[in-house]
Amino acid sequence: MTPEFDLIETYFTMPAQKALLGVGDDCALIGLAAGNELAISTDTLVSGVHFFADADPFKLGRKALAVNLSDLAAMGAAPRFVTLAITLPSIDPAWLSAFSRGFFELAEQAGIELIGGDTTRGPLSMTLTVLGEVPTGDALRRDRAQDGDDIWVSGSVGGAALGLKYLQGTVTLKPGVAERALERLHAPVPRNKIGEKLRGVANAAIDISDGLVADLAHICQRSQLAAAIEWALIPISPALLSVGPDVRMACALAGGDDYELCFTAHERMREAIAVIASEAGVPLTRIGRMRSGAANVSVLDERGNELNTAIAGFDHFSV
Ligand code: ADP
Ligand code: MG
Repeated sequence: MTPEFDLIETYFTMPAQKALLGVGDDCALIGLAAGNELAISTDTLVSGVHFFADADPFKLGRKALAVNLSDLAAMGAAPRFVTLAITLPSIDPAWLSAFSRGFFELAEQAGIELIGGDTTRGPLSMTLTVLGEVPTGDALRRDRAQDGDDIWVSGSVGGAALGLKYLQGTVTLKPGVAERALERLHAPVPRNKIGEKLRGVANAAIDISDGLVADLAHICQRSQLAAAIEWALIPISPALLSVGPDVRMACALAGGDDYELCFTAHERMREAIAVIASEAGVPLTRIGRMRSGAANVSVLDERGNELNTAIAGFDHFSV
């Protein structure tokens, strides 16, 4: 069996670039540019809970980092450093090598540096901590939405949830559609470039990990405002066009795992947001408005009537 140190050396070491001291000592050392704040977030993925035990290790390595990068995107923070605490049931070189390749492929793309972690034996799980940098006072917080703000969402929603339903066997999909939905589930693309560009443009932001309505409700709660969104404006995943209206609505409104950004901004920012979308090559779609009132999300039909969202498997989103 490979000793733990060799394992770390082989699979989890990259040369220190921006860190003053990376993997290999008791602590890593990092510097912070003057005038910047650190944004820090931790997420754990547990086998059988957040991913299937037989998940493709390359995609898993990528996704473990992607979901953490998404939290930095939602704060408008630039990705800088990450630590990885991994618990492994056994040492499987093929699995570790694929996991590590997936992880480092995205790390390189995102410009984030692995500076340390921990390696233990036990049921498969991984805990990542990401550190990002943001100019002092510029972070995109959930509690800064303003009455009258437009509500926006990046990319499309509902595809990942459809992929999950497909794996669970509750929907049947044609091969091409299934492939697209599974891609959304297994290979989410964190919106870091968009998040950084939204500094000074958006008032509040969150990433969609639990579902559009549930996550927008967090902005409502923290900002003490209501949100009204229009069903017809929501950019649903193209894969959802091939399923019935009930599944479509459930996935688009309540489906998690898309890792898109939902943010609010003053209407004078519409032009700036259109420019950010075209530079990123990712659609940014206006789906509704923040307004005064109790902290909840209503979904409206084309006539402005509240939609019966019980059909989507939930009744109300009051928080
Ligand atoms: P310690 O006993 O001081 O915690 P470890 O043997 O756990 O040291 O780790 C040795 C070095 O390897 C440390 O710098 C630690 O941050 C790093 N490290 C351990 N596991 C990982 C991992 N999975 N990914 C990246 N770095 C790791
Ligand atoms: Mg340790």
